[in-house]
Amino acid sequence: MAHSNGTSDTQALDALDFSDAEHREVVIIGTGPAGWTAALYASRANLEPLIYKGPEPGGQLTTTTDVENYPGYPEGVMGPDMMQHFEQQAVRFGTDARYGTVTDVDFSERPFRLVVDEETPILANAVIVSTGASARYLGLENEQRLIGRGVSACATCDGAFFRDEEVLVVGGGDSAMEESMFLTRFASKVYVAHRREELRASQIMQERAFDNDKIEFLWNTEVIDVLGDEQVEGVKLINNETQATWEKPVAALFLAIGHTPNTEIFEGWLDMDDAGYIQTKPDSSYTNIPGVFASGDAQDHVYRQAVTAAGTGCMAAIDAERWLSEHPLEDEAGSTKEASDTEKPAPAAA
Ligand SMILES: Cc1cc2nc3c(=O)[nH]c(=O)nc-3n(C[C@H](O)[C@H](O)[C@H](O)COP(=O)(O)OP(=O)(O)OC[C@H]3O[C@@H](n4cnc5c(N)ncnc54)[C@H](O)[C@@H]3O)c2cc1C
Repeated sequence: MAHSNGTSDTQALDALDFSDAEHREVVIIGTGPAGWTAALYASRANLEPLIYKGPEPGGQLTTTTDVENYPGYPEGVMGPDMMQHFEQQAVRFGTDARYGTVTDVDFSERPFRLVVDEETPILANAVIVSTGASARYLGLENEQRLIGRGVSACATCDGAFFRDEEVLVVGGGDSAMEESMFLTRFASKVYVAHRREELRASQIMQERAFDNDKIEFLWNTEVIDVLGDEQVEGVKLINNETQATWEKPVAALFLAIGHTPNTEIFEGWLDMDDAGYIQTKPDSSYTNIPGVFASGDAQDHVYRQAVTAAGTGCMAAIDAERWLSEHPLEDEAGSTKEASDTEKPAPAAA
């Protein structure tokens, strides 16, 4: 449920009976690298965390094939396999992992109230948000089929697979320019298809891209299909002014049209930037609500990597553990509620 900033509409939650609700020390929302790492650290700190897997158990990496930049896997690893390893490691130390999506929250006082799948009430003394982000795709049938087989939303992750090949990037903002320039380190040619006649990217980024001999812009151009059976072999393009269509052989299609953080249910509770990324206090995972911590891509629009997500998941669990030891709830059944803090606590010292 969307909340206007600073106010809390708890009508839907109030309709549920929380008097007998399961009451946990820590609930972690989301099972990407951030959530599983938070779960690993929280279980090893004896917090017996409960973690919800959400709509995409294992997170974004379950949509890709080879991951070659996660430390500890010298031969690389398949994304879905890696996420199983994360899960096994957290569960080994006692993480209670469940299927279910958190559909509503009430962070107005402790214990915090959560609703799972619109029907199950859960109480939590602390919450770690690790709901990640979703890369935006064009929504073409063949594009979805070929994700991880030449279709990618992450040049940093997959660029090196296309050494000496021609690739095509879709987008016109700063990140599209950044990704295109990064790709010129590997690809022999980088086409940038942009649906308008000019870029949204900042002047400096545009100039750098225009100066790069390996980058060629295709203006007023949209991708209308992705070609290839097992692997991307090309794209079908349309010029939206002339309506002319043509096929261009390329080995990869990189989408650089943005990400959407999965933070809608926290609107009105947690401070966010204009794009919906949760704002954390510097050098910590603290949000504006004491006892609610955020990690991973849900609060990171800059790095967006598995290793950084895992790193901030670790931070969130350590922050939560320290904060809980300083702010215990007297009655674990939840009948004695601590007055809700309004001041923001200082981040714990490392
Ligand atoms: C195609 C692709 C390839 C990539 N390749 C690489 C790579 O090679 N190397 C690399 O380092 N990074 C790669 N990345 C980036 C990497 O996947 C992300 O940075 C990382 O997964 C972010 O982790 P996260 O834990 O923050 O969130 P995510 O992985 O996004 O996971 C979010 C989790 O939250 C859950 N969730 C969401 N909403 C709710 C809710 N309301 N209730 C309960 N659960 C919820 C979801 O089900 C999911 O489990 C790639 C990304 C993509 C899309």
